[in-house]
Amino acid sequence: MTRILLVEDEGAIAQTIEFALRAEGFETAHALNGRDALRIVADDAFDLVLLDVGLPDIDGYALLRELRRSRDLPAIFLTARHAEAERVLGLELGADDYVAKPFSPRELVARVRAVLRRGRAQQSLAGFEHDAEGRRVFFRGRQLDLTRYEYGLLAALLQRPGAILTRAQLMDRVWSDDRDSSDRTVDTHVKTLRAKLRDIDAGADPIRTQRGLGYSLQVD
Ligand code: CA
Repeated sequence: MTRILLVEDEGAIAQTIEFALRAEGFETAHALNGRDALRIVADDAFDLVLLDVGLPDIDGYALLRELRRSRDLPAIFLTARHAEAERVLGLELGADDYVAKPFSPRELVARVRAVLRRGRAQQSLAGFEHDAEGRRVFFRGRQLDLTRYEYGLLAALLQRPGAILTRAQLMDRVWSDDRDSSDRTVDTHVKTLRAKLRDIDAGADPIRTQRGLGYSLQVD
């Protein structure tokens, strides 16, 4: 299910937008202001945010910066005036698109789909993005806080998506400098890694146990 967060202080507009998105099969959440939006994203993962530029407590630009502090999130600005729309583009805030009010719900849904399609084309494997140079991994746009061994394990799986890696292979790759490690070490770290992935997406379980063999990364 694709989840969209709508931040809009005008109830009537918000209702129209939510109705149009839900009719197209999207799941939506609505925040009336920036404070609510930040609270909502702290608890839930979203695929895209629709941001009204003129909010009561914080402007949409500043809110987007806050929202993106810990994760990458595709965004479309809803702007009141054409002049504002130009400003959005001029500021190069990283918004993926903007829609000037008044807009038709149909047009908005089309823009949402286009941004999501672009994002998916760029998105790497199974919701993961791997910054090998920085030794960082993002899952569904959020950076994973990994220990050295968790990172090594995930990086090994990401390198050969879909392939089964035996515990021995993983030991060799990740724990080559640690003589005290055992097969159980691999299992323990897979367990903590899975928990961290579930923290981001409760239903996610991309690391598959291959009984009697080892582990693989499921690719959709
Ligand atoms: Ca507004």
